[in-house]
Amino acid sequence: MFSKLVAPHGGRGLVCALLTGEERAAELGKAKGMKQLEISDRAKGDLIMMGIGGFSPLDGFMTKADWKGVCENFQMADGTFWPVPITLDVDKSEGIQEGDEIALVKDGEVFATMHVVEAYEMTTEDKKWECEKVFMGEGEESVDGNFWKIAPDDHPGVIMVQNQKDMNIAGPVKVLSEGEYPVEYPGVYLTPAQTRRMFDERGWANVAALQLRNPMHRSHEFLAKIAVEVCDGVLIHSLIGNLKAGDIPADTRVKAIEILIENYFVKENVINGGYPLDMRYAGPREGLLHATFRQNYGVNHMLIGRDHAGVGDFYGLFEAQEIFDRVPQTGDAAKDLQCKPMKIDWTFYCSECDGMASLRTCPHDKDSRVILSGTKLRKALSEGAEIVDHFGRDEVLDHLKLYYASLTEKVEVKMQGAASGDSM
Ligand SMILES: [Zn+2]
Repeated sequence: MFSKLVAPHGGRGLVCALLTGEERAAELGKAKGMKQLEISDRAKGDLIMMGIGGFSPLDGFMTKADWKGVCENFQMADGTFWPVPITLDVDKSEGIQEGDEIALVKDGEVFATMHVVEAYEMTTEDKKWECEKVFMGEGEESVDGNFWKIAPDDHPGVIMVQNQKDMNIAGPVKVLSEGEYPVEYPGVYLTPAQTRRMFDERGWANVAALQLRNPMHRSHEFLAKIAVEVCDGVLIHSLIGNLKAGDIPADTRVKAIEILIENYFVKENVINGGYPLDMRYAGPREGLLHATFRQNYGVNHMLIGRDHAGVGDFYGLFEAQEIFDRVPQTGDAAKDLQCKPMKIDWTFYCSECDGMASLRTCPHDKDSRVILSGTKLRKALSEGAEIVDHFGRDEVLDHLKLYYASLTEKVEVKMQGAASGDSM
């Protein structure tokens, strides 16, 4: 079938490192004789994405030159756009050398084998530099010398990088498992090849994606519907990898989206899917990563709303939109990011407008608006507080209330300036 969809990033089609059948069995056999390296949840998600082509054109973890280029200027050594380092850290004492073949293991399961082409030191200074390049933003917690006062304790991305071991190893991988995803999320965990086939079957050319890690409230629904109006369809794409404590588990969120689609969308125009990656908490750069891997899924418009992938108050509310205008353009379509941002202003329910609106369409004042945020919704739900009218759809809220009622321990949800509406 002729596809009208955007090509995968990097100009080499979908680069899939996943082995199947006999090839997989043979590699699993070889892996038994290799040095076993225990990996993090983040690395597991990265490997699965390399396996299914979600990280095309990456076929392994980044070399020092790639790491440096990505941090400095969003480009790998060959000039291909990439927004955040995809690296694998190890302890020097493991004694891993260039040329080694090793097995990457998580909880007793071999996820991949790797041919190590480079092992490079990551000093405290290197990590500090990576954090400043990748995580520092324009929000009040990043500027005026605040970043290093606040980030080491409060920025989960910075904490993750600072806790990395003292070396990175680079090289191509052969992926041997998709983890629990195909079994736990049948029909929701979709590979890029699968979403592309689904889009092609529907004859879609222009596809938008809505990134989700919180339950869908009215603003998300509004964003998805704006996209349906101007594109052929929308992929509602939830993170089903690991979240931080206090977040709502993926199965509950995915079911809530199903309920919303069932009751409030034209089904033919929406696909509900999940992807197996962990959050990197990289704010605007994470927005770019969302667009980069969505391109591989066949998406050419990435919905970017207010405080997309925000972390605390480290970023400006629209910084994740603005960063798309600052990334380098080589003029080579294979190397540049082709998935474009669909920038949407701050959205809310307005009683004067009598409907959903944004700062671009609503002339009324704050008192007429219901400020919607995922954090606010989780806070109200976890405290058993009354949910303000128009915050979410009743069918969805009922489902979420069931989840919170089933919890034995109360979850604490911290509010940030960005979620409060104070800056409107
Ligand atoms: Zn209004």
